[in-house]
Amino acid sequence: MNTVTGLSPHHPTFCQGCSAPIWFGITTVNHKLMPLDVRPDDKGNVAVSRDTSGTWWARVVKKNLPARAGIEKVYTTHFATCPKRSLFARTVKAQMARLAPMIDLQTRRRVG
Ligand SMILES: [Zn+2]
Repeated sequence: MNTVTGLSPHHPTFCQGCSAPIWFGITTVNHKLMPLDVRPDDKGNVAVSRDTSGTWWARVVKKNLPARAGIEKVYTTHFATCPKRSLFARTVKAQMARLAPMIDLQTRRRVG
């Protein structure tokens, strides 16, 4: 179970730009960290699913690949909602740099 602060919506960290609670999903495409708002949002465009290891995977919803009901929840990326967006790019990089060593992104494989 992944309980590292910042890597689950249940263990959020805080945006260093606006102090909102945020967390980071791991993108299915290239295993990068994707900052997300804590509350699921049907109007968002990031579909998130948790695998059996507790890793939260994030992918961008597309017309031909909509969120799978019951499997994925839809969230909004904090890139879109942060009121301190101009600061955000810089601060989120610092947060990513802090979190990335805690998870071995390269060796993670999607399970289930
Ligand atoms: Zn923010």
